[in-house]
Amino acid sequence: MPAGPYRGRFAPTPSGPLHFGSLVAALGSYLEARSHGGEWLLRIEDVDPPRVVAGAADAILRTLEAFGFEWDGPVVHQSRRLAAYRDALEHLIREGWVYPCTCSRKQITAAARRGVDGPVYPGHCRARRLGHGPAALRLRVPAARIVFDDALQGRVACDVAAECGDFVLQRADGVYTYQLAVVVDDAAQGITHVVRGADLLASTPRQIILQGLLGLPTPRYLHLPVVLDARGDKLSKQTLAQPIDPRTPLPALIAAWSFLGQRPPGRLDSVQEFWSMARAGWIASRIPPLRGFRFASPHNT
Ligand code: GLU
Ligand code: ZN
Repeated sequence: MPAGPYRGRFAPTPSGPLHFGSLVAALGSYLEARSHGGEWLLRIEDVDPPRVVAGAADAILRTLEAFGFEWDGPVVHQSRRLAAYRDALEHLIREGWVYPCTCSRKQITAAARRGVDGPVYPGHCRARRLGHGPAALRLRVPAARIVFDDALQGRVACDVAAECGDFVLQRADGVYTYQLAVVVDDAAQGITHVVRGADLLASTPRQIILQGLLGLPTPRYLHLPVVLDARGDKLSKQTLAQPIDPRTPLPALIAAWSFLGQRPPGRLDSVQEFWSMARAGWIASRIPPLRGFRFASPHNT
């Protein structure tokens, strides 16, 4: 157990009700935080208005509550944090890290190689200057190999310029991107440990770059295995994963517990019994290794 305070978080996107994949992320981050005597904060990632479904944030909070999750401090909503994202973006602009891009998605897909997480922007607009009408704002990614030790996945290395390319910080429609918002918020909330699904593993090196450029600390990371559906696709609200039923928390909690590789609990009659069992019996080293997601092998040391 590392010395010092532990502050974790769960940061769902309210694009639909809580589904099994997000319950796994909630449970893993929660039990890791509590087993370190740490705090667990909640953040609603509603920075992207077109993705937000009316009522979903409330439904997620009600489900977490019905399941017996207890969070610390007020719930943060990204939609109310735009000034902080603008400040961070302006800092990067002042330091010369940002340029405007007017390439269409089509042009990019036609010209780009595929990287670890979609097309690698080929840098077409790199020489453009700011201030000529609506444009996406991209980070001029510095050439560097980012290396970090994931508590579950081991050492991860990524050359972000080559594998992701210059990524967008603010879209042409003004929306701040996940990468920028999450870095600003994890720092503002004092998050020391990020536990989340491995579908976000490819985002972490980009976030570490932003932390460096903004002078923010890098938390420790643990990326949980991702729940796949029968076709091998990630369960998500987009693939219409079944929402979990807030009226029957116990079987869903036990299923998430088992998915995380924890010992079968024996007979449990209530959610209260689940939580006393889980808080005493959680062993992170039992979480099964990642399936289905790999960086390109030369970068996977
Ligand atoms: N909002 C993201 C999601 O629901 C999670 C972000 C994070 O944990 O960094 O997939
Ligand atoms: Zn461009």
